[in-house]
Amino acid sequence: MSPLLTLMLWVRRAARFSFPAALAISLGTIVVLDASARLPDVWAFTALGVAAVFFAQRLLRRMRKNHQGVLGDIELGALLAALSYGLVVRFDHSLDGRLYPIVLSCVGVVGAFGRPAASVATVMLAAGLEIAVRLAGTGELTPKALVPHLIFLVVFGAQNAIVLRAEIARLRKTSRERLETELSKIRDDARSYRLLGTGRGDKKGRDDDRLVRSGVEEIHQAVLFALKLLRESLDLYTAVLLWRSDAGTHLRISELSTDAPNISDGPFLVGDGIFGAAISQGTPVALSHLKPNYKLPYYSGPCPVRAVLALPLYEHGTLRGLLVVDRALDKAFSQREIDIIDEAGRYALRAIQNERVFVQLERAKVEQGKLYRAAETLGAATTEADVISAGVTAAREITSVDYAAITIYDEKTKAHEIRAVSGGDEEAHVGQTFRHNAGLVSMVVQNRHPLPYRGEYDEQRQIVFTKRLSPPSMPSIVVLPLCVHDRALGAIVLGSKRPKAFGDGVRGTLEVLASHMAVSLANARMVKRLEELATLDGLTGLFNKRAMLEMAEQKIVAAKRFHRRLSVLVADIDHFKKVNDTHGHDVGDIVIKGLGEILRRAKRNTDAVARFGGEEFVVICEETDARGAMLLAERVREELKKTVFHVPGKNQTLSVTCSIGVATFPDAGQSWDEMFKAADDALYVSKRSGRDRSTAWSPSAKGSHERAA
Ligand code: GH3
Ligand code: MG
Ligand code: MG
Repeated sequence: MSPLLTLMLWVRRAARFSFPAALAISLGTIVVLDASARLPDVWAFTALGVAAVFFAQRLLRRMRKNHQGVLGDIELGALLAALSYGLVVRFDHSLDGRLYPIVLSCVGVVGAFGRPAASVATVMLAAGLEIAVRLAGTGELTPKALVPHLIFLVVFGAQNAIVLRAEIARLRKTSRERLETELSKIRDDARSYRLLGTGRGDKKGRDDDRLVRSGVEEIHQAVLFALKLLRESLDLYTAVLLWRSDAGTHLRISELSTDAPNISDGPFLVGDGIFGAAISQGTPVALSHLKPNYKLPYYSGPCPVRAVLALPLYEHGTLRGLLVVDRALDKAFSQREIDIIDEAGRYALRAIQNERVFVQLERAKVEQGKLYRAAETLGAATTEADVISAGVTAAREITSVDYAAITIYDEKTKAHEIRAVSGGDEEAHVGQTFRHNAGLVSMVVQNRHPLPYRGEYDEQRQIVFTKRLSPPSMPSIVVLPLCVHDRALGAIVLGSKRPKAFGDGVRGTLEVLASHMAVSLANARMVKRLEELATLDGLTGLFNKRAMLEMAEQKIVAAKRFHRRLSVLVADIDHFKKVNDTHGHDVGDIVIKGLGEILRRAKRNTDAVARFGGEEFVVICEETDARGAMLLAERVREELKKTVFHVPGKNQTLSVTCSIGVATFPDAGQSWDEMFKAADDALYVSKRSGRDRSTAWSPSAKGSHERAA
């Protein structure tokens, strides 16, 4: 932004902030002037008019934008204070007249509707005006008149603010409480209808909550409809569905259709009167010709009921609740009526069952969706790191996961390695290995079964990795095996700060996720192995020719761009055919491996070594001049010469020598082909001059420098 523009913006902002202050000060000054020497009417009323217009305009703006900064409130407060003092001074000519309450009500209004800061500012400004006007009017300050006014200003400013805020807080609290009661009632209903599985109180449970809430609503609608129909058709006074508590000790009203004003809320004891009779008999119990003072548990006080029927409701042989109907008419329930009531009871049960199945299906659908998405990302992951990150993300979607770790088991070394950690001490734990022990991870890998049993983790008694190596303290931990074809590659450890986070409701899903992860991990390993096969030489583990050619091009481009030196070494074992002929191919292979090992040890980290074919090796050394490359070549040559190879199974040894050619960029060539050719030429010189020596390429190529033993 140009400095001029910045300056203009600053000026504009300063003007916007200082304008209200300037306006309030000018209005205040006019009020004070009016008090000291009465201004002409025109001036005074114009000023009051201007203030009123500004106030109205600012007020409208505040009402339109229902959110505005505290400065806006202060501005409104200041205008209102100045305006009210102006009116009082103009019409009463003093601050002790009849109109003074205007000032107090204005301060009160700001206190009630403005921000606390605006209230404070308005009271302070009013107090300032009070003092200034009194001084200007009478030239003296009498505490007797001033002090009560100041106290009133403060009280009015604060009182409304406090009262109003307290009222808002109270309203918020009651509505929150009402909401909580409503929600907990729904949850209770859901639990008694067994719609709710393992309670998930976190944000992941929100969808589940919504699902369960709509399930409860569906059940209420269906059952209420059945009760109403029953009441209409059988001339009933009350029809009520009572549901048994989990403990089986109480009955709670689940749905009710009645004319009675005095229904008791319950809960009721299962043994109470007719309830107890129906439950203990396990069949409908009907009573008629009841005396007018007969007491039924679900009415508080007397009821006009003359006939009642209680029908126990069973689900798979277990008592779930009672359907109780009564009527004011003294007419016993006929068998046909009892059949209809029985049918209604079964309808209510079916509604509950259907809803339960529906909720379970919906839940399964959601879980499957999560697994499907996880499987998709896991399928696309080709590296171990990708698989781990996709798996941990998916686990987080399934339940609340605060910690995750992946371990891989190596059957050869019988050791577990922590490969990834999320939400814990990543730096200290990743890469740590531990031996097979009695900890959860070891046991899970060994038995290919999740632990702890039933998800009951006891931090005090159970070890996850080892005693020394443990995840952060958490109430819930689950360890799942990563199995492929009955073989555990390792384990995934999940931890949550929420108790019972890995209950039966989510364990199944997590197990499926773990097996997806295991397959993806195995794939990622295979991909890695294939890549290695494509780039590494099988005998020596060094790069193969193809990989080296790719790297060589890049390295030469980099050397050109950054004007760096680069050297190429080509090494070839002398009279190698003889080794093969004398000792066989296998011994030849041992020698090739030996030179590979020497090269691997001698090279720097930035150097690349490849077996180019047969017993010929190439080394590319970055930032190395001819002298450095010759030093390396000589070291390798000396090292090989010193090495004694044993012929397996025979009491024989052998030693070999090698010849090396060295070429350095840019003198020896500008491209890989030129460089390689130069190094090969130098090697040829070494061979021709008697072998067991290193030669650096020089422009008089065929007469390169050479060193030999
Ligand atoms: P020179 O001193 O001139 O290099 O003589 P040399 O006998 O070593 O000749 P050359 O480098 O041409 O010989 C390469 C021999 O290496 C030919 C082949 O029998 C042998 N060879 C190539 N690949 C392998 C391998 O993988 N294993 C074994 N044991 N021998 C191999
Ligand atoms: Mg050779
Ligand atoms: Mg050769």
